[in-house]
Amino acid sequence: MNILVINCGSSSLKYQLIDSENESVLAKGLCDRIGIDGSFIKQSAPGKDDVVLNIDLKDHNKAIEEVINALTNKEYGVIGSLSDISAVGHRIVHGGEKFHESVIIDDEVMKAIEECVPLAPLHNPPNITGIRACRAAMHGVPQVAVFDTAFHQTMPEKAFMYAIPYEYYKNHGIRKYGFHGTSHKYVAERCAAIMGQPIEKLKIITCHIGNGGSIAAVKYGKCVDTSMGFTPLDGLEMGTRSGILDPAAVLYIMESEHKTDEDMNTILNKKSGLLGVSGVSSDMRDVRAAADNGNKRAQLALDIFAYRVKSYIGEYAAVMNGVDAIVFTAGIGENDADMRFSCASGLEYLGVEVDASKNAVRGGEHEISAESSKVKVFVIATNEELAIARETAKLVK
Ligand code: AMP
Repeated sequence: MNILVINCGSSSLKYQLIDSENESVLAKGLCDRIGIDGSFIKQSAPGKDDVVLNIDLKDHNKAIEEVINALTNKEYGVIGSLSDISAVGHRIVHGGEKFHESVIIDDEVMKAIEECVPLAPLHNPPNITGIRACRAAMHGVPQVAVFDTAFHQTMPEKAFMYAIPYEYYKNHGIRKYGFHGTSHKYVAERCAAIMGQPIEKLKIITCHIGNGGSIAAVKYGKCVDTSMGFTPLDGLEMGTRSGILDPAAVLYIMESEHKTDEDMNTILNKKSGLLGVSGVSSDMRDVRAAADNGNKRAQLALDIFAYRVKSYIGEYAAVMNGVDAIVFTAGIGENDADMRFSCASGLEYLGVEVDASKNAVRGGEHEISAESSKVKVFVIATNEELAIARETAKLVK
C-alpha cells in the first residue's frame, strides 16, 4: 500500500510517498513559504525530472491540495488518483504522557494532541494543522500519528522525574520526555537485525547526532533513559542549543545582563551550542574547518561535543549495567568519521574499540568496531520517514 508521510512545520510541509510493500520512495517533496510571499513546491521522483512549482500556498489546506495535484500529475506525478493513497502518517513532535505508541487519528486523539500543545507550543500546532488539512482533503483515508516522544515513554520514573517540588510534575507535567524517538527506535531495531540477535536481549546506546542531538539507552528494546528532557534543549551540545547547564547560571545571566525570558530563550536555543562556543557557525563542517585552521574556540566546541557524547555513553552503560552496541546516526553521526572516533576513543575500559579504516565510511549501515572490540559499534543511517510509513502501515493493516 502507498503511505503518504507528512512532516508539517509552521511554514513548510515535507512529504514522502512510500510503497510499504517494497519500502521504496515513489516521490518526495517540500512545500515551502506556506502563507508567505514566494511559496513553492519542489518534488522529486525516481526516473523523473525534479519539478519546482511556484504556486501561491496561502495556507496548509492549499498546500495539501497542491501536494495531491503534484503526486497525481500526468507528467511528473507518480500515482493515478487520490485513491492510490491508502493512509497518511504524520510526524507529531509531542505526545506528552498520553501516547506510548503510534495511533490512528480520530476526534478523541485530535483532542489529546491539542492538549499537548502547552508542552510543544512551536511544534504541535503546525502538526495539528497538517492533520486537519489532510483530513479535509482526503475523506475516509486513515490518518496515523507517530510521536517523537512515544518511544521514550518506557523510561522509569527515577529517570524521567526531576528533583524539584512534586507539584510541578502534577500540575504542569514538568518531567523528562525525550525526543527523536522514531529515529532511536529505528536504528536500535536495525542494529539488532544487523547483529542477528533479538532486540529483547541487547543493551544498545543510540547516538542521534545532527543539528539537534540526543542519546538513548535502549535496554532489551525499550528506552530506559535519554539525554533530551522536558524540551529538546537538554543534553548534548547542539548546532545552536546549549544542552545541559546549571539552571542557576541562567538566573545569573538574566540578572547580571538584564535579559528577559524571551532573550534567554533565544540565547539558549539559537545562540549557543557549536555556534555560541566557536563564534563561527552552527554547522559542524564549518566548525571543523575553522578548528583545522587553528581557531581555538572552534576546537573547544568540537572537544565539548565529543566529551558530552562520551559522558552520556558512560552514563548509559552504567544505567544498563553494560552495553552490547553503540550506534551513530544523523548528519554528524553518519558523516563525520573524526567526530565518531573522538566520541568513542578513551572508552577501552568499556570494551569499545573503533577500527580507523572501518570507520572511514559515510551513511549506509556499517560496523566500525575492531575485531577485538567487546562492544559492537555501528554507523546506521536513520530513516524517520520509512519508520513512520512502517508504523502507519502496521496500524492500518
Ligand atoms: P542533521 O540535522 O541530521 O541534518 O545534521 C546536520 C549536521 O550534520 C550539521 O552540523 C552538518 O554540518 C553535519 N554534517 C553533514 N555532513 C557532514 C560531513 N560530511 N561532515 C561533518 N558533518 C557533517
